[in-house]
Amino acid sequence: MLNGNLKLAIQKNGRLTQKSIQLLRTAGLEIEDYNDRLIISVQNFDMDIIYLRDDDIPEYVKDGVADIGIVGENVFYEKKADAEIIRKLGFGKCKFSLAVPESKEVKELNEFNGLRIATSYPNLLNDFLKKNNLNSIIVEISGSVETAPSLGIADAICDLVSTGNTLKLHKLKKSFDVFESEAVLIANKFIHKDEKKNNVFEELLFRIDSALKAKSSKYLMMNAPKSAIEKIKSVLPALKSPTILPLADESMVAVHAVIPSDKFWDILRNLKKVGASDILLLTIDNMIL
Ligand code: ATP
Ligand code: ZN
Repeated sequence: MLNGNLKLAIQKNGRLTQKSIQLLRTAGLEIEDYNDRLIISVQNFDMDIIYLRDDDIPEYVKDGVADIGIVGENVFYEKKADAEIIRKLGFGKCKFSLAVPESKEVKELNEFNGLRIATSYPNLLNDFLKKNNLNSIIVEISGSVETAPSLGIADAICDLVSTGNTLKLHKLKKSFDVFESEAVLIANKFIHKDEKKNNVFEELLFRIDSALKAKSSKYLMMNAPKSAIEKIKSVLPALKSPTILPLADESMVAVHAVIPSDKFWDILRNLKKVGASDILLLTIDNMIL
């Protein structure tokens, strides 16, 4: 599709697909359901979305088949493609970790010396081994890495882990974390040379930043005695001063504030202690600062 639109590559079918689309929709882009098509145009934005296997995304972005892409940091660093990370996106979080059979006792990293480690990410593992002066043997496997020890082809594995349930299922246990990963927005190094694409990209970045900011914040509303205002202010994180509104009962006020989502429960406990009541927490659709 040589229409001059910005081209974004995302994973066709996998763990990052829905969250990537969700982020783009929060950024105001109208995206149809893709129904197995390779490429679709965004209806209200000069951008096309290309659906690919995640392993191909760094290379396609580097070559300019796509201008930008969304991919896990693990894949990005594994492929060593000449492209740049522009934003961390806060989803697809996982750890790339060493794991051993439950029956094996491993206390020190140097106990991996001489062991065979199965992985689908040989470059990531190799970088780690080098950095730690380890001489383990890398056994490259493209899928189902966790079966390697029971098949006798490796002594340990290094794989992506989020809950650890898959490890347990295969009688393995995590021993050391090698790398923490999340989804990232990447771009090729020559995107700035195309003025039209670069403008669309800048607008996309602005919207993604607003969407990410909104996701990590919540809008908090409460009522409180006027006399508690100072105490309430001290409990709220000092991002911006809260909005204080008068109520019909003159001894009371309404307090509105934007807070970081992950601090909500701590803030709530403290607000109750200082006399706040009727506390409401709202999600924020978008936030332009
Ligand atoms: P594809 O068919 O596109 O090659 P895949 O099977 O290689 O897909 P997925 O399993 O869909 O990849 O994972 C995509 C990305 O999701 C991973 O590269 C990683 O960045 C992230 N991720 C988050 N949690 C996990 C997890 N528990 N296991 C594997 N990947 C995870
Ligand atoms: Zn893949």
